[in-house]
Amino acid sequence: MYVCDYCCICQLLEKKLLAKNGIIEDDSKEREEELKLADCPRCKTKNPVGAKYSMTCSLVLDQATAIEMEKGSNDLDRNLGAVMANAELKEKLKQEIIAEMLKKFS
Ligand SMILES: [Zn+2]
Repeated sequence: MYVCDYCCICQLLEKKLLAKNGIIEDDSKEREEELKLADCPRCKTKNPVGAKYSMTCSLVLDQATAIEMEKGSNDLDRNLGAVMANAELKEKLKQEIIAEMLKKFS
């Protein structure tokens, strides 16, 4: 699962804090907009409206991001197709993916 170390909630809280201390302008109308929550269609987590990803399951909530990712994955599929046709490259990629995963989870 993708975990953002500076997620939209953190940014929102920071903004509220800064506004409270008069460091930035408190645009209450805008803030109200941001504080609206929307259920994630997959895990039902309440995410701020406008959040690109679900905080819990990282499902793409933003339509523009979803379309962008769709495009990206199509490109990736095409590239993967070319790689998978080459046995030597395929093996090399597999090793890289395993190494990458080990790094992430260690
Ligand atoms: Zn979710």
